[in-house]
Amino acid sequence: MSKKKSNRHKKKVVKEGLRALKNKPGWDVDAYRNRDPQQGLRQLEQSMRGHRTYEDAQSCTDCEAIRQDSDDETALCDRHLAEAMGLDPGD
Ligand SMILES: [Zn+2]
Repeated sequence: MSKKKSNRHKKKVVKEGLRALKNKPGWDVDAYRNRDPQQGLRQLEQSMRGHRTYEDAQSCTDCEAIRQDSDDETALCDRHLAEAMGLDPGD
């Protein structure tokens, strides 16, 4: 149950994500990469991180309080919002 993952682990996760996406039809990772490698990777990392953040947020009491407060079921607490935007306050 380690919530904090190292940057190296994140890079590894992105790499594995790219490999998995390559096997999916309709996603041309190479073309995507050739267009703008840095941005493509960043976007992929952010979307993966966002997905994980939303999973974390399901069991976060801060997020729950904000969701009830704002009546928005996608609302996130400051920490998870920062994570979803690709910021890493923990580093
Ligand atoms: Zn939260």
